Amino acid sequence: MQIPFHKAYITDDEINEVVDSIRAGWLTMGPKTIAFEKRFRDYIYKDSEVPEDRRFAVSLNSATAALHLALKATGLQPGDEVILPTNTFIATAEVVTYFNALPVLCDIEEATGNMDVSKIENLITAKTRAVVPVHFGGQPCDMDEIMGMAKNHNLKVIEDAAHALPSRYKNTMIGAVGDITVFSFYATKTLCTGEGGMATTTNQEYAEKMKINRLHGISSDSWKRYTANGSWYYEVVDNGNKYNTTDINAALGVAQLRKLDWMRERRAWIAERYNRAFRTKKCIILPVVKSDRETSWHLYVIKVNNRDELIEKLKAEGIGTSVHFIPVHKHPYYKTTYRYLDEAFPVANRVYEQSLSLPIYPGMTVEEIDFVIENVLEHAR
Ligand SMILES: *Cc1c(COP(=O)(O)O)cnc(C)c1O
Repeated sequence: MQIPFHKAYITDDEINEVVDSIRAGWLTMGPKTIAFEKRFRDYIYKDSEVPEDRRFAVSLNSATAALHLALKATGLQPGDEVILPTNTFIATAEVVTYFNALPVLCDIEEATGNMDVSKIENLITAKTRAVVPVHFGGQPCDMDEIMGMAKNHNLKVIEDAAHALPSRYKNTMIGAVGDITVFSFYATKTLCTGEGGMATTTNQEYAEKMKINRLHGISSDSWKRYTANGSWYYEVVDNGNKYNTTDINAALGVAQLRKLDWMRERRAWIAERYNRAFRTKKCIILPVVKSDRETSWHLYVIKVNNRDELIEKLKAEGIGTSVHFIPVHKHPYYKTTYRYLDEAFPVANRVYEQSLSLPIYPGMTVEEIDFVIENVLEHAR
C-alpha cells in the first residue's frame, strides 16, 4: 500500500469551478476572488457578534504574504520586536525579518506544541510591538491569556492560523479573535487553492491597508480598472507588493469552502480512530486537545522515543509521514543571524526529537487508516 502524507481532496466540484473561471476569461484577481473573500468572511464570522460592517477578509497569494501585510498594516518598524513560537514554519519568523525587526522566539507547551503563555511576559521589552501565536496543528493557543497580555502591554496580536481552519476557541471561530488572523491555502492545508492565503480582521483600516498593499500600493479596488465601469486612472499611495491571488486559485477555494466542515469531520473521525488504537500502547504519546477549544485536525502528531527509526519503518511500508516543525532556532541562517541559544528552548527541543505527524486527510480509506495504525503499533518504541 502507498499512503502519501497528504492528498488534497479535489473532485469534479473543484475542477468545474476552475473551468468556469477559465471560460469566463477572467484569469487574475476578479469576480471569483471577491466571491471567495465574501464567502470566507461569512464563514469565519457566521456566529460572531461582530457587526456586519466590521467583518473583513482580504485574499492574498499566500499566508506568508498575508503575515507580511498584516505586520505592515499594524505599523511594524525596523528594530521592533515580535514574539512568536519557535515551533513553527519558517514563514512566521521570516516575515519579521522583512522589516529589519527582530523575531523573538518563545518556548512551547509540551502537551500542545503551542507557545507557552507563561513564558511570554519575560520576553516583552520596550521594543515589543506584536505577538504572533501559531495554532499548532489546528489547536487554538491560550488566546484569553495572550489577548490580556497584549492589552496590558499595548501589543498587536496577529494569529498565524495556517493550520486552524476551521478551529474554535471557546465557541469563537479562529479568525474572529485577534487583531488580524492569517490563513494558508497552500497545497497541504485544510483548504487548498494550490497557493493562497487570507487575512481576516475587524479593523477597517488594517483591511484597507492590506488591500492596497497586495496590489503595488495602488489605491483601493484597483483590480476593477479593467471592468466595464473601471477607469484608467490610479494612484500609488504606499510601497506595496504583488501579492494578489487569481480567480483560478479562488475557484478552488470556492469549491473547497463548501465542503470545509465535512472535511473537518472526516479528519476528526480519523483522529478518533487513531486515538482509540494508540491509547493501547504506552510508548505512544497522543495529541492533547484542551477542553474549551476545537482543533481543525490539520495535523495528527504523536510522540515516540524512536521517531527517526519509525519514520524509516513506515516509509518502507509505503507510509508517508512528516515532522512539524524543525524549530526556528535550529535553522542555520536564523541561528547565526539572531544568535538563538539552543538551551533557551528545552521543551521545543525535546518535543521536536519525538514528534511525528501521521497522514490525516479526508480521502483516506478505512483500510489505509488501519494500515497506518497497524504499522505504528508494530514499530513505535
Ligand atoms: C504553511 C504555513 C505557513 C505559510 O503558508 P503559505 O501559504 O505557504 O505562505 C505559515 N505558517 C505556518 C504555521 C504554516 O504551516
